[in-house]
Amino acid sequence: MAEGIIYKALSGFYYVETDNETAECRARGRFRLEKSNPLVGDRVEYMPTEQGRGYLTSILPRKNVFVRPPVANIDMLIIVASAVIPVTDPYLIDRLTVTAHNSGCKSVICLNKCDADPAKRLFDIYSTAGFTTIRTSAETGEGMDELLRAMSGSLCVLTGNSGVGKSSILNMLDRNFRIAVGGVSKKLGRGRHTTRHVELYKLPGGALIADTPGFSALDTDEILADIEKEELQYLFPDFDEYTGKCRFHDCAHIKEPDCAVREALESGLIMSSRHASYARLYELAGKKRY
Ligand code: ZN
Repeated sequence: MAEGIIYKALSGFYYVETDNETAECRARGRFRLEKSNPLVGDRVEYMPTEQGRGYLTSILPRKNVFVRPPVANIDMLIIVASAVIPVTDPYLIDRLTVTAHNSGCKSVICLNKCDADPAKRLFDIYSTAGFTTIRTSAETGEGMDELLRAMSGSLCVLTGNSGVGKSSILNMLDRNFRIAVGGVSKKLGRGRHTTRHVELYKLPGGALIADTPGFSALDTDEILADIEKEELQYLFPDFDEYTGKCRFHDCAHIKEPDCAVREALESGLIMSSRHASYARLYELAGKKRY
């Protein structure tokens, strides 16, 4: 028996990488019966048969599962934003950080196109809120080494609004991608009918990255509706220091008196856009229709 990670799934074959080999595996019938579909990113056990081949015997417990892209065990969401057209709305970033946090992923904020605009406001918001915030330029290569260091040892997926340069960043991180700039987001936009396969790539520094950007605003809406209102505060790590210090133990931090979160907001310790996003998301949370 051997153990490894699925880095590619294609036409019923699962390509598993271990510390010292790669194996082309088939899944046996019981996976279909149990409706547990092996995914890229899954840690699996397999039985080697002949040279370089084998069959999957089990999927190890997952940390999380995402639909778009279909990847399991994501450690880190790289949220790409920019201050030049298209300017990124902090509300979108906050939806993505909440989504990431809710699934046990770390968020890294990547402010791209910094050669054209250093995105001062976004940098202030997210570095103050405690996120790893990195300025990058896919044009000049600035920040790419820092980004690679932040990603080291993690399974990462890039996300962000269209046009911020996700494909250019992928191409800059690894020249082997040769992703047509602009082509990927178009495919994602009509994603329902395109079954583009996802593949993980190992980057210098040891990170694994999915070769396709993931998550749209629509995807986050579904996930957010699933979060209970009372849980939302815990998905804003910059609120952590204050949430237990309000007068009311069930304080929603929106208009209650003696609210430690709002006091931190008023004294500038919590950024106003972060609290505004929290208040908007509070309205959306817990609205899942059964
Ligand atoms: Zn409060």
